Amino acid sequence: MKLKEALAAAAAHGVARLDAQLLLLHVLGRAPGDRGWLIAHDDDELPAAQEQAFLALCGRRAAGEPLAYLTGHREFFGLPLQVDARVLDPRPDTETIVEWALDVLRDRPDPRVIDLGTGSGAIALAIQSARPDAVVEAVDRSADALAVAQANARRLGLPVRLRQAHWLEGAGRYDLVVSNPPYIAEADPHLPALAHEPREALVAGADGLDDLRAIVAAAPAHLLPGGWLLLEHGWDQGEAVLQLLQSAGFAAAGSRRDLAGITRCSGGRRLELG
Ligand code: GLN
Repeated sequence: MKLKEALAAAAAHGVARLDAQLLLLHVLGRAPGDRGWLIAHDDDELPAAQEQAFLALCGRRAAGEPLAYLTGHREFFGLPLQVDARVLDPRPDTETIVEWALDVLRDRPDPRVIDLGTGSGAIALAIQSARPDAVVEAVDRSADALAVAQANARRLGLPVRLRQAHWLEGAGRYDLVVSNPPYIAEADPHLPALAHEPREALVAGADGLDDLRAIVAAAPAHLLPGGWLLLEHGWDQGEAVLQLLQSAGFAAAGSRRDLAGITRCSGGRRLELG
């Protein structure tokens, strides 16, 4: 089978063209940036073993497995991460909260930061890479997720301190508490499409707010004066999270939109009362 025939077979499976190209490059041992090479070589023969591997991956992709699990790679905030089914596939939208985090840390030297429910380590590693002076902790309740985060930290040479914990248990005091917790409601019709990702990284009670409520309630005691709490949440949860933040006494509570214009995260600041 020629490469172009393999791509046609993938299309017939219902795999999007870009995904098919990236899977083909993956089985050929080539970098994701080599799509130009693929187009120039589409008359080349695909060896039988690689053809089999490619078609198997296309079948899994067509059944909804995230591309990142199939290739094992996900680029996040310019960092090459390794991911698999033990962690949520980091979304490009989550770069919004990293940018906000870096903004609030700009005037704070040697900041102390904690990322709650770190999963692959994406948020913590992105902050640590941009702010080498920061002391960044990252926790997850899942030992499996921590193993993924630890491997990413080691491979990237970033000194994020990883620890197994549920939200803020055993935590100290920070300039920034940041989290992309589970926030999908139990009965949300989108959940079946996310069936390949860990349910405990996605679902948070009847209204999807259980974990956001728990974090907002616990955070004030763990923030230094003037410290920030930043939370990612669902597209329709902005008002509810702002309410939670205001009721918990946070000042300057506000939200940020992602590149698609969706209200993606909200946060607030602990007053400087000393
Ligand atoms: N943003 C993810 C999705 O909607 C959910 C991530 C999360 O629950 N933290 O697919």
